[in-house]
Amino acid sequence: MSVLVTGGAGYIGSHTVAELVAHGEDVVVIDNLRQGHRAAVRDVPLYEVDIRDTEQVGRILRDHKVDTVVHFAANSLVGESVEKPLQYYENNVAATAKLLSAMVDNGVLNIVFSSTAAVYGEPVRTPIHEEDPTVPTNPYGETKLAIERMFRWCHQAYGLKSISLRYFNAAGAHPTLPIGEDHNPETHLIPIVLQAALGQRPHVSIFGNDYPTPDGTCIRDYVHVMDLASAHRLSVNRLRTGGGVEAFNLGSGTGFSVQQVIDVAREVTGRDILAVHSPRRPGDPAVLVASSDKAKQVLGWKPQYDDLSTIVASAWAWHQSHPNGYED
Ligand code: UDP
Repeated sequence: MSVLVTGGAGYIGSHTVAELVAHGEDVVVIDNLRQGHRAAVRDVPLYEVDIRDTEQVGRILRDHKVDTVVHFAANSLVGESVEKPLQYYENNVAATAKLLSAMVDNGVLNIVFSSTAAVYGEPVRTPIHEEDPTVPTNPYGETKLAIERMFRWCHQAYGLKSISLRYFNAAGAHPTLPIGEDHNPETHLIPIVLQAALGQRPHVSIFGNDYPTPDGTCIRDYVHVMDLASAHRLSVNRLRTGGGVEAFNLGSGTGFSVQQVIDVAREVTGRDILAVHSPRRPGDPAVLVASSDKAKQVLGWKPQYDDLSTIVASAWAWHQSHPNGYED
């Protein structure tokens, strides 16, 4: 019995692989390595295969006696999705349909899915609960929601069980292994702030300072990547003993503004970080904060890194030791 992780060479995928291995799971990774890093996958088989290749995926499912798939492989940039919606429908929705075909054909009926807070769009209340309206404001969130809906029909037709994990803002790095966040291009706030602390960028742009928040900058819920990883492990266990079609928010429940993140990073790094005001980024809601009570109650999820300084310090350790990411 083993777990297949698609996109296991990516940021959250590689940390989840490490978490599963640390808990004694047999893990196998497939990744087409377009965004993932070979060096992020340690001590488990890595197949450079696209999830659309049903023949190869089917063979891997059988050869490794896979019972559960943890599915990360996707395109995940909001701005890019607005410019290239068809690429997102192809690489997220159509590719996942192919993956599910290979699973159903081989009797693998458990999937843990990497979903996103972007399925909610502009929230109707804070914090956001799972039953709140899902009205995505960009193709990235729309395609993730389409996949969540596909699971419902596949449950009815084939008995496929799924857990969709709606992440808020993932950050941080593994506490002991040399894995961390390395995107190209980097668009996320915390790595950008830390690149500025390292002198790799002249400044951080604050996208908008006229939001209806106490300091005018956007508020987000930052959650440590190892806490996300543990939620995936708990979800694998839940599907093995029950479950059906479920979705869970994963966040810390506390919001921090862009300005607060920069202030915390200045404290943690002891470096000057120049911040300049820039226009709003299209599609950014003012406040996104999760209620993760359901994940705590149903999955027994216990986030370990609930404070922003710890999360930023963990990311800083990775960026300092790997200023050029996996190229180092
Ligand atoms: N942000 C910013 N400057 C940057 C990158 C991000 O002000 O260079 C803001 C962004 O507008 C958002 C928050 O930081 O309000 C978090 O953005 P990120 O891209 O990290 O995650 P998202 O919330 O889009 O998933």
